[in-house]
Amino acid sequence: MIDAVDRASALRAYADETADCMRCPLAAGRTQVVFGVGNPDADLMFVGEAPGFHEDQQGIPIVGQAGRLLDQLLGGIGLQRSDIYIANVLKCRPPGNRDPQPEEIAACESHLFRQIELIQPKLVATLGNFATKLLSGKPLGITRVHGHEQEVTLGQSSVLLFPLYHPAAALYTPSMLKVLEEDFSRIPALIERADMSTTLRVGPSDQHGVTVVSAQPVQLGLF
Ligand code: URA
Repeated sequence: MIDAVDRASALRAYADETADCMRCPLAAGRTQVVFGVGNPDADLMFVGEAPGFHEDQQGIPIVGQAGRLLDQLLGGIGLQRSDIYIANVLKCRPPGNRDPQPEEIAACESHLFRQIELIQPKLVATLGNFATKLLSGKPLGITRVHGHEQEVTLGQSSVLLFPLYHPAAALYTPSMLKVLEEDFSRIPALIERADMSTTLRVGPSDQHGVTVVSAQPVQLGLF
């Protein structure tokens, strides 16, 4: 069992290692690798999509307007950025903020899995489609699965996965923002629940190292 000091230094060492990553062509266009920020000992980790212009400049995930909304949502449940950890599926900015490509995700995903393994969060909140599909190992879109927690094993760690709408998508859609706020309000109870649940490990991992251990039935909507 890794303690908080070892965890922080292991994460720092891993950030240093990835700073020169050349695993995919996005390396050529980046200002810097946006590794992730926050509390290495966090119970709650957020996973977004990929750095945009400002994140690439500042080296911090989810800044700008979406970042301010995220901060506001965190404040609503009594948390701030220093309590949590934030990382993205991709660590480098796709040109023109286009969607991540499958080969980029494949090249980059082990960085995220390693971060999760080191941080060992109790709850991983995925923001939007790309993080949700990658970490759930399922192709279901965020509209269907947001707010439906599921237990998954990522590498060696068992975590509760909680898909959420991306704050950037909710910024201009009041109905989506309302749903995001409602889903967000469940986070404290989910962290507590994850704290109490025993670590289970069943079944073989798929090619992404994702094993769904026991999923709360996903209530599939009509869209
Ligand atoms: N910026 C990020 O760092 N991640 C996102 O998912 C969107 C914007």
